[in-house]
Amino acid sequence: MTFSHDTEQALGTLVRLVNTMPGPNSQVDSLETLEELEKFVQEREFSAVDTLSEKDLAEVRDLRPLFAPVFTTDSDAAAATMINAIIARGTSTPRLTNHDGHPWHIHYSRAGASMACRITVECGIALAQVVSAGERERLRRCEAPDCDDALIDLSRNRSKRYCDARTCGNRLHVAAYRERRKASGE
Ligand SMILES: [Zn+2]
Ligand SMILES: [Zn+2]
Repeated sequence: MTFSHDTEQALGTLVRLVNTMPGPNSQVDSLETLEELEKFVQEREFSAVDTLSEKDLAEVRDLRPLFAPVFTTDSDAAAATMINAIIARGTSTPRLTNHDGHPWHIHYSRAGASMACRITVECGIALAQVVSAGERERLRRCEAPDCDDALIDLSRNRSKRYCDARTCGNRLHVAAYRERRKASGE
């Protein structure tokens, strides 16, 4: 099963945002400067972005601890409470748009809203769609022992275990291989 393109885009943005926070995998906060925020917004392809300020940076940073626990809870009810609280912080005004050559799709934040408001509403509603589809378990944390990055599992059989198969998954394969060699006395 898949979500709509915009929902998946918003979820990808959210995972990226939450994972800028320092954690066991990386002690580094990678959303500390205005340049980092500008890069984030550009990479996630936000449309019609006004000039970003230090205020935007502070507001966007403050969203991270609100969203992060949604990837850790194992209860739909707890997730729903968190997501409702997040959505209530923003001003949502659903409207159809076909900006930048995209097919008609819904934006939930009003035109001209602040970056933090846009992320709050778009990502909050994307999360609400995941839970209302009975798919909350797709919001998880990486299973590598020294990583707890957020991930969204969009695989058909919910088989994604690591935040990034090329780094965490691969690192684990190498560790398991070394363990096996050690155990067999090679
Ligand atoms: Zn759009
Ligand atoms: Zn990981």
